[in-house]
Amino acid sequence: MRSLNPVRSVRFPRPPSARLAHWRLGRFTALLAACGAVTAAAAPLTGDRVPTNDGDLVIHPIHHATLALGWKNLTVYVDPVGGAQRFAGLPRPDLILLTDIHGDHLDAGTLAGVAGEKTALVAPAAVAAQLAGDLRSRTTVLTNGQSAALLGLTIEAVPMYNQTPERLKFHTRGRGNGYVVTFGDQRVYFSGDTEDIPEMRALKNIAVAFLCMNLPYTMTVEQAASAVRAFRPKVVYPYHYRGSDVEKFKQLVSDDAGVEVRVRDWYQP
Ligand SMILES: [Zn+2]
Repeated sequence: MRSLNPVRSVRFPRPPSARLAHWRLGRFTALLAACGAVTAAAAPLTGDRVPTNDGDLVIHPIHHATLALGWKNLTVYVDPVGGAQRFAGLPRPDLILLTDIHGDHLDAGTLAGVAGEKTALVAPAAVAAQLAGDLRSRTTVLTNGQSAALLGLTIEAVPMYNQTPERLKFHTRGRGNGYVVTFGDQRVYFSGDTEDIPEMRALKNIAVAFLCMNLPYTMTVEQAASAVRAFRPKVVYPYHYRGSDVEKFKQLVSDDAGVEVRVRDWYQP
């Protein structure tokens, strides 16, 4: 806070006591301005906490494939859809990750409502092409296998696609991105819409995984559990699971794999 000293000493000589309260308020406002902290702060994000080597990661499920994460002073949204009202009371995102073009992952109206003037975005090219110009100009386009360093995070785009013949039409290989995001020393995987592809099964050192499981668009709970038993995240959250038996998924992952399955309600009205 060294930078605040000039503000206090130069600009605000102490006034007579009758105006002290007003002076204090003015000085406080100036100090906030000097910190760049004038904007009203929303309540801190609540949710599950995962320790990292630089503070807790806060996980805040919202709906289906949509979630918010908090880490240090950053807020990250993943696939914000469903209208801006759904995000009322949450901190504005510093970063938005977008996985694919479908309406449960990409919604122009929601993005316009939740993105702040400085919000950065990461998206595959097919998604970026559908963004409004002002958002597109702040979007880092990643294809599968590419990485970016943004806001102190490392963001790696990973494949997501269907491989069962009758499902190939839903998610073409290379169009969408899953992501592995590193928060401090913890790697967090967002599957996007995919089956248990070899690239998923080969993931290493994942602390937290968000894994889709629903038919006909992604995969069965059997496929998802098989993948989890292969790449063994410390914690897995079923998400994007509408209509699927997540308790069965939990049973199939079983207790011997060293994986904690966190079942949360992603479908509250
Ligand atoms: Zn989807």
